[in-house]
Amino acid sequence: MTAHVKPKALENFKARDFRMLIDGVWTEGAGPVLERVAPGHGIVVSRYPAGTKADAERAIAAARKAFDHGPWPTMTGAERSNILLKAADLIAARADELAFLDCIESGKPISQAKGELGGAADIWRYAAALARDLHGESYNTLGEGTLGVVLREAIGVVSIITPWNFPFLIVSQKLPFALAAGCTTVVKPSELTSGSTLVLGEILIEAGVPAGVVNILTGTGPEVGAPMTTHPDVDMISFTGSTGVGRLTMANAAQTLKKVSLELGGKNPQIVFPDANLDEFIDAAVFGAYFNAGECCNAGSRLILHKSIASEVTARIADLASKVKVGDPLDPTTQLGAIITPQHLEKIGAFVTDAAKAGASVALGGEALDLGLGQFMAPTILSGVLPDMAVAREEVFGPVLSVLTFETTEEAIRIANAIDYGLSASVWSRDFDTCLTVGRKVRAGTVWMNTFMDGASELPFGGYRQSGLGRELGRHAVEDYTETKTLNMHMGARTGWWMPR
Ligand code: NDP
Repeated sequence: MTAHVKPKALENFKARDFRMLIDGVWTEGAGPVLERVAPGHGIVVSRYPAGTKADAERAIAAARKAFDHGPWPTMTGAERSNILLKAADLIAARADELAFLDCIESGKPISQAKGELGGAADIWRYAAALARDLHGESYNTLGEGTLGVVLREAIGVVSIITPWNFPFLIVSQKLPFALAAGCTTVVKPSELTSGSTLVLGEILIEAGVPAGVVNILTGTGPEVGAPMTTHPDVDMISFTGSTGVGRLTMANAAQTLKKVSLELGGKNPQIVFPDANLDEFIDAAVFGAYFNAGECCNAGSRLILHKSIASEVTARIADLASKVKVGDPLDPTTQLGAIITPQHLEKIGAFVTDAAKAGASVALGGEALDLGLGQFMAPTILSGVLPDMAVAREEVFGPVLSVLTFETTEEAIRIANAIDYGLSASVWSRDFDTCLTVGRKVRAGTVWMNTFMDGASELPFGGYRQSGLGRELGRHAVEDYTETKTLNMHMGARTGWWMPR
């Protein structure tokens, strides 16, 4: 590992000052300023207003007014679709700027950030297509005197709260679908990575989204996020983040019975049988564990290997993982970037120490890396992990891979399901029966077969159990942001209560 040098791209860099977007106006807010120190470079890269409860209330009022008085909810699907398509074009045009912000604020590798921007633009295009196709149902089968029509109506004002690990991608999994449905929104990105979401605000104004339809608040969760989950004028909350805050969000929403969509943590198993294509799997194991430094709800953090191949496969994964390039997030060849905060690095380290105390072996890494500036962690593998250890059950959210073993298919399924999470899983085998048996029995929102972490805008994404509620993406994603209304219409003479039947 070489000592860190300040990258050329940051030599003349000046921290960017951002403002919040409330009712179409860029505002400083009433609170102090938050500074974001780049996790990979140790310098201040962005400043944001620390939004207050009063700012949240103003944003919610603006969204309420924009919903109740239009024009956004009453525009045609085609009109909304055209604006979303224009937004997608502008996202693509500003992809380098957005990727740069995500890279320096989150510490993710720049090559990966660029890939995420491509995926995000595609989601906006997909949501634009759905905006034109949103429709209800009709029932012409209820007898001569009755016609039933089921309308889909925009649900109203939606609070969108997002985390730091995929700043632009995650807001893109929510906002375009809410807009496609005709909703108005208040968006709160993580206080650590708000930059790209604020640039998205500029993009949406340029694309033609009217004032008040998208309001963007910066600041901390407890101060500015909490009112977004309790305010009576908010109709729905779409949240991605930790299971703990997800639970709190649901409890807050219960006070006024808001609809809640939650995308939370995961502890995703990869179950591997001896007949699998091991070359393909080993590549996927390394990718699944170290992509986004493991700070990923979908991380393949739990390998469940058949006992007969476990030691050979673990050694081969360790060999490949030791070649993963850790370093400056702005270096296009970096594969594993920085850890989001020093506190988070400590939390990851504690998981490794505790696992070793509980009897697991550190087969690779296990320590923080000093690259001169910022905080980094070596790709880490823990072998001999048992299903009841904390590291096998809890989300580490770092580059730490736990290796468990199984002997029978039933045991593999039992281990996979024996945790509170159920976001995603994978099964590796050349046998169709094995893949389908495991695929049908593992309780997870996505099960990959002979691949890992592939996705598409068309495919729903979300979790079972404490991994969340509801699904994002896919053709039903727009419907999530709607209410249904039944129109029950009568024709001809009505047989009333007091009239002859
Ligand atoms: P949080 O759940 O704390 O944060 C997610 C979002 O919720 C942020 O915008 C945060 O604001 C906001 N928030 C925090 N508290 C409240 C509140 N009381 N009311 C409303 N909104 C609130 O996750 P962290 O980012 O702190 O990460 C902690 C852990 O969560 C990780 O280690 C990981 O295990 C998990 N996680 C899971 C993710 C996933 O994709 N499933 C994504 C990110 C984290 P702010 O942070 O600005 O204060």
